[in-house]
Amino acid sequence: MVKINSRIHEVLGSTTLAITARANELKAQGKDVVNFAAGEPDFDTPDYIKDAAIKAIQGGFTKYTPSSGSEELRIAIAEKFKRDNNLEYKPGQIVVGCGAKHSIFNAVMVLCDAGEEVLIPAPYWVSYPEMVKISGAKPVFIETTRENGFRITAEQLQKAITPRTKILILNSPSNPTGMVYSKAELVKIAEICVKNKVWVISDEIYEKLLYGSEPFVSIASLGKDIFDQTITINGVSKAYSMTGWRIGYAAGPADVMGYMKNLQDHSTSNPTSISQKATVAALKASETSIAMMREEFKKRRDLIMSLVDDVPEISYIKPDGAFYLFCDFTNFGPCAETAKKILNDVNVAVIPGDGFGAEGWIRLTFSTSQERIREGISRIKGWISQNK
Ligand code: PMP
Ligand code: GLU
Repeated sequence: MVKINSRIHEVLGSTTLAITARANELKAQGKDVVNFAAGEPDFDTPDYIKDAAIKAIQGGFTKYTPSSGSEELRIAIAEKFKRDNNLEYKPGQIVVGCGAKHSIFNAVMVLCDAGEEVLIPAPYWVSYPEMVKISGAKPVFIETTRENGFRITAEQLQKAITPRTKILILNSPSNPTGMVYSKAELVKIAEICVKNKVWVISDEIYEKLLYGSEPFVSIASLGKDIFDQTITINGVSKAYSMTGWRIGYAAGPADVMGYMKNLQDHSTSNPTSISQKATVAALKASETSIAMMREEFKKRRDLIMSLVDDVPEISYIKPDGAFYLFCDFTNFGPCAETAKKILNDVNVAVIPGDGFGAEGWIRLTFSTSQERIREGISRIKGWISQNK
């Protein structure tokens, strides 16, 4: 057996991607699968974005760009940050990556050294701990509770910090719980991070998918000190239904971003030039298509909650953002087994919570039509009546 790099050897495959692939396989075999697994919008990418890409190809915008992204795109992103988030990043402080996943990965790689600790509130998005392990640093989990709405408290954060703590990874709205931090909560988190010189990677990919009345708040906008020790992450996958285009971006202090650029110089180089042009069009247009998708997601959220309310054996916490309903299936034993059985027995693809650090829980993505949501929950209800 070939000896594998010891850090890569420890990395787990992604549960979200594995189950989505298995659901697609069953579909290809002709099975009528309800897909509550894939963490991506089911809408088509809006036409004005596709048109910009076609124009880019026809106009010959098909060559390398600067590895951190074209100047035009970084200006458009700087304008977006100013307009939406009250953040003053210069284009030179922005590095465009091949998806937010890539941008977070590079931020972790640049900031972390072996032996340092990265705080990750649990439940967490499946990729964070693995990224940290690849960097050689150590993921340290802060366990949240259902009673607290899956939020970390200031006290918990303070207690988790050691002299080795380098970063806190924040994700609001959260995948998998749909939790959203209030401004007051972010202020407290920022104060503790500043006091203890802990960096923040703020993953804001679900920014546009908010269902409450509170406006979205970027933690870096809460003062100069926290601005100077935050890497803000965003992208177009979720807001514009552009998952396959692979564009995400990171913004932060110029010196750190310079190292992120160097890392890209020697690994991916620039993200696809054509997708960059499409992203400029996405960011510059009015937000009509975003608003339409958000409205539909809100209807689906309300529908799936009302349907699950009728299944007494499972419960959930109300998601205020993103497109996930995180459900308590602890009555049914190990959730990886439960998810497998639900997929095999009634052809509903769901993601077990163990990959998110939440054994016993199951994530249902409501990124499918209202009709399929009715069908899927009805099948789960049937499965539960056979298996309780
Ligand atoms: N962060 C979170 C919390 C996510 O759920 C995802 C989902 N793909 C990403 C980052 C990465 O998105 P992408 O790489 O498609 O921009
Ligand atoms: N982030 C999405 C999810 O959680 C897409 C899959 C992935 O990249 O993990 O399902």
